[in-house]
Amino acid sequence: MLVLKKASALKSYIYQNKPKYSIGFVPTMGALHLGHISLINQAKINCDIVVCSIFVNPTQFNNKNDFDNYPQTIENDLKLLAKAGCDVVFVPDFNEIYNAANSPHINLDKFGKIINVFEGELRPGHFNGVIDVVTRLFLLVEPNQVFFGQKDYQQCLVVKKLIEINNFDIKFNMCPSVREEDGLAMSSRNIRLSSDERKMATIPYKMLKFISQNWPNKPELLIKQAIDKFNSENVIKIEYLSICNANDLSFADINTTKPLILFAGVLGSTRLIDNMLVEN
Ligand code: AMP
Repeated sequence: MLVLKKASALKSYIYQNKPKYSIGFVPTMGALHLGHISLINQAKINCDIVVCSIFVNPTQFNNKNDFDNYPQTIENDLKLLAKAGCDVVFVPDFNEIYNAANSPHINLDKFGKIINVFEGELRPGHFNGVIDVVTRLFLLVEPNQVFFGQKDYQQCLVVKKLIEINNFDIKFNMCPSVREEDGLAMSSRNIRLSSDERKMATIPYKMLKFISQNWPNKPELLIKQAIDKFNSENVIKIEYLSICNANDLSFADINTTKPLILFAGVLGSTRLIDNMLVEN
């Protein structure tokens, strides 16, 4: 497995290999777990060469404390990636990514409402940072296919839109959320949970499952029932629990054909997000 720190080294690798091989790309912020590895596995199935990037992008953090405390486990990450059969790991520093010569032109207006609701509303500037860094990475890696997790569903919609707006010749793959046995969606931030908090961290999954199993019904009613059943003591400070249309994140009604349940909340000092597509 090649570990590259320089954008120039990555570019020359791509230049040599792209004509012959298809390239699958998995961008990450490190502190890897089996959710990330599932994306590498899917990329290996779909493509000849798999490139993974590890870069904790400061511009997408709206909370400095969260950025400063973001877990970093690079040695373990490299072990997991090597074991999964990843071909290239790109571990740039800030300057390698944010070099002015490489600066993409981004028109945020073209993204419409999907960058201003839910995560976009609660984390001002978050998607601007995501769009900027993902565009820069796509221009460097020139992937044929990219792999993102459903865990960050709204991010998937934003990246799909980014590909469309830029006319990138890239196939977008959304991979299912990987969960712990008790349903908690794997996340790099989960290691911050205390053992008591870890037990309570299944509440979002329980609420999502309850709503999904009881669909169709009035969204407000289902949400209220889910909260009353699983979070009546307000253990989790819910930021949003909403049922929306999976295509554009507009609020769902009982007739919505592709409903998506979106959740975000804070447990202790750890922010959890999760979502579930309702099987009709
Ligand atoms: P991150 O390192 O948090 O930026 O995540 C990198 C990629 O891994 C994103 O596409 C995430 O959606 C994806 N990812 C994170 N957690 C999971 C999970 N539990 N299951 C599947 N994909 C995930």
